[in-house]
Amino acid sequence: MKTINDFNFEDKKALIRVDFNVPLNEELEVTDATRIQSAKSTIIKILEDGGSCVLMSHLGRPKGVEEKYSLKHIVDSVIETIGVQVKFIEDCVGDAAEEAVANLKSGEILLLENLRFHGEEKSGDVAFAEKLSKLGDIYVNDAFGTAHRAHASTAVIAQFFPENKCFGHLLAKEIESIDKVLNDSEKPVLAVLGGAKVSSKITVIENILDKVDHLIIGGGMTFTFVKAQGGKVGNSICEDDKMELALEILEKAKAKNVQIHIPVDVVAADNFANDANTQILDVTQIPEGWEGLDAGPKSLANFEEVVNQCKTILWNGPLGVFEMESFSKGTIALGNYIENATKNGAFSLVGGGDSVAAVKQFGFADKVSYVSTGGGAMLESLEGKTLPGIEAILN
Ligand code: AMP
Repeated sequence: MKTINDFNFEDKKALIRVDFNVPLNEELEVTDATRIQSAKSTIIKILEDGGSCVLMSHLGRPKGVEEKYSLKHIVDSVIETIGVQVKFIEDCVGDAAEEAVANLKSGEILLLENLRFHGEEKSGDVAFAEKLSKLGDIYVNDAFGTAHRAHASTAVIAQFFPENKCFGHLLAKEIESIDKVLNDSEKPVLAVLGGAKVSSKITVIENILDKVDHLIIGGGMTFTFVKAQGGKVGNSICEDDKMELALEILEKAKAKNVQIHIPVDVVAADNFANDANTQILDVTQIPEGWEGLDAGPKSLANFEEVVNQCKTILWNGPLGVFEMESFSKGTIALGNYIENATKNGAFSLVGGGDSVAAVKQFGFADKVSYVSTGGGAMLESLEGKTLPGIEAILN
């Protein structure tokens, strides 16, 4: 795996695909610069080598050129986060961009305008990728958030740098972390899969059964498994058309010697609201008018025991409706167990959508081994797919 550490960037122009798709408020100010911060290590290494950086990214989902999606809005935030002046050019291809790159000196950073102002970015147009490729000597992919897309700047462009292409520090770390969980893991391995629906996680569950010793299934997925086995789930979220599948998964897990742990009790509510009436119920005995919105105390005690046994832990998806305080305790407790296991030497990876939001919200982000920066890309990796953005560098 070639990374930027295998290159000396002295007098070289690095063309870096970053993921600066950051949230902006109504005033078009950056409200969370985490993604910019994540690219800092790569940018600094290149500048310290004596090279220069040409940064390319998308922002939002513009239809053609839309002012509010201009990357000019993030320039100040990039300067503040990286601590170096940043030049900005109002297109990502063409004469003006090429001239700006030609004038770029060692130690300087140039940010190109939003790649998605050109439809050819998302369609993976080869001619557009070739135009982009004129803007640097070495292509660096450091955008895990878009690594599952075969876009011009994330994958197609790599063919124009047959020898001079590599991963940035962030993407390399993402690849290593996933590998440490799925392929090169210390046993016992645990995956915790929570979240709302079985249907969105089914491919992950199937792939992961070959990799883990324990699987905790929590969140809304619980009830499809419980009902499939004859339990009463009341008004809990449940996918009746996935019950067969749930039973198949349980069979497969048995055959593969994977221990599946499902909540035995839940915090049930009489309404999907923070101020609903609640009671702790056996997960198989939820009456009509009540729905399970968080894992109960017995379940959490079981989960703690499992987490404590494991040396490698993957966490994807909350154990309950963590956005409401009344149903956040299970997710917070799980975070605590994983934090303790990590302190005791386990490797813990949190990734995929809402679990990342949860670990950030509850302050666990720096207490686990690694928090992934890519939702969709992480899920596709866990599904066992090869990501185009990674493949393009490896080939
Ligand atoms: P996902 O994006 O699949 O990880 O799902 C995350 C969402 O699942 C969060 O918004 C949670 O509120 C939701 N969720 C977790 N547990 C439950 C539950 N028991 N009932 C309904 N929604 C849930």
